[in-house]
Amino acid sequence: MPLFSPRRYQPPFYPVRQEETWPARAFTAFERSVKGWLFGCRMCGNCILQETAFVCPMTCPKGLRNGLCGGASPDHCEVDPSRPCTWYMIYNRAERMGRQDKLLEVNAPIDGSRAGRETWLEMIRFWREREQGPYPLDFFFNRKKFNQDRDRFFYELRQPDWWQGDALYHPAVYQEPNSLLEANLRSGMFVTTGEIAPPLGASGDIILKKVGWLKEYVAAANFTDNASASARMNSMASSKICLEAGLEPVMQLQARDRSRVVIESDAMGAAGLGVRNILCLSGDHHRFGPAPMAKPDQFDMDAIQVLWMLRRMRDDGKYLDGRDIKQPPRFFLGAAASPFGAPPEYEAIRAEKKVNAGAQFIQTQPVFDYDRFTDWLEALDKRRLLDKVYILAGLIPLKSARAAHFMAEEVPGVMVPPEIVTRMDEAGDKEGQQEEGVAIALEMIEKLKNTPGINGMHVMAVHWESIVPRLVEESGVPRPVVSSLSEVDDLAWVREKPVGVTEAA
Ligand code: SF4
Repeated sequence: MPLFSPRRYQPPFYPVRQEETWPARAFTAFERSVKGWLFGCRMCGNCILQETAFVCPMTCPKGLRNGLCGGASPDHCEVDPSRPCTWYMIYNRAERMGRQDKLLEVNAPIDGSRAGRETWLEMIRFWREREQGPYPLDFFFNRKKFNQDRDRFFYELRQPDWWQGDALYHPAVYQEPNSLLEANLRSGMFVTTGEIAPPLGASGDIILKKVGWLKEYVAAANFTDNASASARMNSMASSKICLEAGLEPVMQLQARDRSRVVIESDAMGAAGLGVRNILCLSGDHHRFGPAPMAKPDQFDMDAIQVLWMLRRMRDDGKYLDGRDIKQPPRFFLGAAASPFGAPPEYEAIRAEKKVNAGAQFIQTQPVFDYDRFTDWLEALDKRRLLDKVYILAGLIPLKSARAAHFMAEEVPGVMVPPEIVTRMDEAGDKEGQQEEGVAIALEMIEKLKNTPGINGMHVMAVHWESIVPRLVEESGVPRPVVSSLSEVDDLAWVREKPVGVTEAA
C-alpha cells in the first residue's frame, strides 16, 4: 500500500519507445519505484499531485483526473469494492488541507508520448530552458515572488500548450440558440426531455414508434450510449433516426471505449448529421456490463475533458492537435450530475468544473429524495452555478415494486427513500404498482416544477416511454413552445437572458 494514496488498480505505464541509454532507463526505473512506494504512481508523465492534495488520481480504476464518478461512495470504489474511492480521499484531504480551490482546474488527459517516462529530469530541463524561476534564493529573500513563480512554473508544466486547462468559467461564444432544446430552455418555460434506449437489433422501427409517442410532449429525447457497458445500436445512429422522425435528439457521448481521436471524430460526424445536443459522460465501467468483460483500461478521457475539448472545437474552431476546423460544429453541450452520490458540496465542485469546462445543461440522476436534491441545489447556488447552466431534474416513473428495489439497492448514485419502496410494495398487483409509480412521479413533478433553479425535467421511462404523455398531461407541465429554429427570429424572448452564453449574447 503506498504511503499517500490507495494502492494502484492498474500497473504503471511503460514508454511507447524505451529510453535510449542505460542510465536513462535506470533513472526511470528508480523514479518509478520511489513514486510507486509513495503515491502508487503509474508514471502518467503529467503529475497533478499538487492539484489533488497529494493523492494520485491515477489509482482510480477509471483513471479519472478531474473528480469522482457518479457511483462513488464514502465506503468503497464502485468498480472494486475492496478498495476506497481514490477521489473521496482526494476531496477529504483537500478539505482538511484547505486546498479545495485546486480541485477546480481542468486537468489534461495523458500525453501518450510522455507516459512511462521519467519526469524529474524533465522538470529540471524545463526549468532551465524557461529561465523564469522559481529561484532558490527568492525562497529566503522574496517568498511572495518565489511562490508566484513556483505556481506559474508548475501550471505551465502540467498544462501543455495543446490543453491549457484552467479553473475559469468559459461561457459559449455564440448568440442564437444552437438547438431546439436550447431555444426551449431559453424561453423560460418548464422543459421536458425524454430518454429512449437504443434498440438491441438492427431495426430502427422501435425508435420511430417511441418517437411517435414522445414528440408532442418533449423538447428532445436522449439516446443512451451503450449504458452499463452493454452493446446496443449506437447513440449516433439512433439520434439520426430520431431526427428524421421529427424529434430533436440528445446524443449521449461517453468517454469509455473511445480515444480522444474517436471522440472528436464521432462528435464531428454527429454534427454533420445534424445532431446538435451532446451529453458528455465518462461512462460506466465494464465491470457493470455482461461477460465477457473487456480489458479494464478503457478510459482515455473523462466527461470533463470531453466537454473541454468539444467546447473548444465549437468556440475556437480547433481540434485538440491544433488543426483548424473550417466549419466548426454547433453543439449545445450537456453533462450528467449525481446529486445523491457524494456529499452535496463535493458534487457541487464537480458540477462547477463541468460548467466551467463547457456544460450548458445538466441532467441529473433520478430524484426520489426531494430534500437531498434541494441540498445539492443549494450547494450549486452557493457556487453561483444556477445562472450559468440549465438544470433538468431526472425522473424515473417506477413501473413495479421490483424496479423500486433494484433502484434502491443496485444502482450506484441513486437514493430511493424506504417509504417509497414501501409504497410500491404495498400497491398490490401489477396494475396497482404501475398506478402507484405514476402517483409518486406526479407528486415529484409537482415539487420540481415549483423549485427555483430547476428549468425542467428529464424523464427516464426506459422501456415504459408510453407513460410520458400521461405524466406531462396530468402534471400540467407545458409542452415544448419552440418547434422550429426558424421561429426563433420571431420570438425575441427566446434570446433574453440566455444561460451559459457570453455577455455579448
Ligand atoms: S468510485 Fe469512481 S471515482 Fe472513485 S475510485 Fe472508483 S472509479 Fe474512481
